[in-house]
Amino acid sequence: MLICAATGNAGKLKEIRRILEAQGHTVKSQKELGVTLEPEETGATFAENALIKARAICEACGLPTLADDSGLAVEALDGAPGVYSARYCGVHGDDEANNDKLLAALEKVPAERRDAKFVSAVCFYLPGGRHITFHGECPGRVGFVRRGENGFGYDPLFVPRLVGLAGSGARPNTEGRTYAELEAWEKDAISHRGAAMRLLDERLADFLAGPEEPEACVLARSVGATIVEIDDSLGFERDEKFDGDKLTRSLR
Ligand code: IMP
Repeated sequence: MLICAATGNAGKLKEIRRILEAQGHTVKSQKELGVTLEPEETGATFAENALIKARAICEACGLPTLADDSGLAVEALDGAPGVYSARYCGVHGDDEANNDKLLAALEKVPAERRDAKFVSAVCFYLPGGRHITFHGECPGRVGFVRRGENGFGYDPLFVPRLVGLAGSGARPNTEGRTYAELEAWEKDAISHRGAAMRLLDERLADFLAGPEEPEACVLARSVGATIVEIDDSLGFERDEKFDGDKLTRSLR
């Protein structure tokens, strides 16, 4: 299927393209489709923001569209930077300054209290309005110094709990490698985004064949490749279910 990736973030686009292409899809970025729109992320949750982006870009390009809203939730910071991850330092998309601020905020926090998790909400939106949203999560902790050259954003500071192949092949990250020290395929196998997009892949055929409700929504939460909760419900009335930060807290 030809899918529009609704993002202007180069690091995120690279991962979305890599994961969807491995699933057999063709990906065009919104930029490649001539859509320069950058919808304001006014949602209080990852899922709301993913929906805002997917809907706006789909309406502009007319293609099935995928948007990811994601971020890092740090336990010692009560879930911050959360939905504000991209602009934690006050400037949107300044990864270096965001990492500096995170290190400063955790300066006095010892290793055993640096638990965090990456959360991704992926919204797949069809022309006409049907859409489906998945959550993926990756538990880990925040390191004390940047390590590694790969990836983007907070990758040099985030140490995932597991590494290896998703599911049964995953093992404890005893070497303490950061996301930025993983190969691309290793990150995709255990990452928050990889988990959410694997769920999308599993459910896509059913969703496409499904009934025509305008706002079909599925919440699934996974850690690595393991689905720990799945909730087929319609609409966003049950907003609390879509709060990545609350999910983060409830998982502790
Ligand atoms: P969004 O575009 O509002 O979803 O912003 C997501 C922000 O969260 C990015 O700008 C990064 O700072 C951070 N982020 C999300 N996913 C990742 C990841 O896989 N690695 C590192 N940082 C990430």
